[in-house]
Amino acid sequence: MSARPCLTIDLDAIAANFRLLQKTVTPAECSAVIKADAYGLGAGPIGRRLLAQGCRTFFFAHLAEAVDLGPEIRQAGGTVFVLNGTGLYPAADFLQAGILPVLNTLEEARLWAREAKGTPAALHLDTGMNRLGLPARDDETVRNLMGDGLNLIHVMSHPACADEPDRLENRTQLTRFTERAARFGDITKSFANSAGCFLGPEFQFDLSRPGLALYGAQPVTGRHIPLSIPYRFEAPVLQVRRFSAGDSFGYGGTHTAKAGGFSATIGAGYADGVPRCLSNRGHVWLHGLKAPIIGRVSMDTFVADISAHPDPESLVHTCAQIYGPDLTVDDQAASAGLSAYELLTRIGGRTERIHVNQLALR
Ligand SMILES: *Cc1c(COP(=O)(O)O)cnc(C)c1O
Repeated sequence: MSARPCLTIDLDAIAANFRLLQKTVTPAECSAVIKADAYGLGAGPIGRRLLAQGCRTFFFAHLAEAVDLGPEIRQAGGTVFVLNGTGLYPAADFLQAGILPVLNTLEEARLWAREAKGTPAALHLDTGMNRLGLPARDDETVRNLMGDGLNLIHVMSHPACADEPDRLENRTQLTRFTERAARFGDITKSFANSAGCFLGPEFQFDLSRPGLALYGAQPVTGRHIPLSIPYRFEAPVLQVRRFSAGDSFGYGGTHTAKAGGFSATIGAGYADGVPRCLSNRGHVWLHGLKAPIIGRVSMDTFVADISAHPDPESLVHTCAQIYGPDLTVDDQAASAGLSAYELLTRIGGRTERIHVNQLALR
């Protein structure tokens, strides 16, 4: 096993999740959102695998994230979009890379109309999230730019509450989007993120844009979707210690043992993406035992109570699962009061990433 924290990523499991999502949104096309290094799991290998799986539309957040994989996707006949728009990048950088911006403002639409020489782009309409996208008052001006050099090929919006299917906002946004998108003529449309893929057929339009669900985290509150778990984040047990009642653990001594037992010191900490808010709240999975984290998570280590294991001393130098098939990122996120998005994208620093093809990471 690895002496460092190690993240194993099962590309077969991600491909299986893509197939499930594609089936769910059919007849719409299923794209893949692989921003933030595919939510921390590795945009290169994952993008290539999804290309092989037939995915043809990919979304990144930044131009800089997209330039490595962009040429391969284009060569395969695919399209690469950058969600954050042209932003501070010169239009020429997009043109040179063959990557298309999702235009978010009137100013970006004007810039693209002027400088892109007919190169296509997508347009994001804000329909109630108030984060990115064009406000309705600018629709007509942008529509007129389409006769003046602006080549829009796709129009999209984004749901604010799709993870809560009963929220009225989902319908309100859908109605607004349907109305406004029609103003831009006969071009393809998209609305759904991962959770939106499960809101029903009227939310799918021509294309759906899942990210999170590809990576095996549950997108919809109160519903279990049979996704495969593609991640296994592990770190070695550095030391097993015998402790007595009254011993306390870690910085600040925030946990004190009520009785004697055994603890395992695990070689990963907040520098590796194990957040401090798992202190005294999260768990690790050690050979069949779900062991509570005791004391504060430090930068490079944390401690778990392994007293319930039949042979605790045998666990030294074995691997502890921090998130994986036996202890999902959703479970840990619930303990930490964080989202699965935050936990996945935090894994980093010294963590070694290994991509495998092996359905079920057990
Ligand atoms: C991140 C993002 C997505 C993917 O969202 P998930 O909830 O991860 O599926 C889709 N569309 C836009 C505009 C996004 O920013």
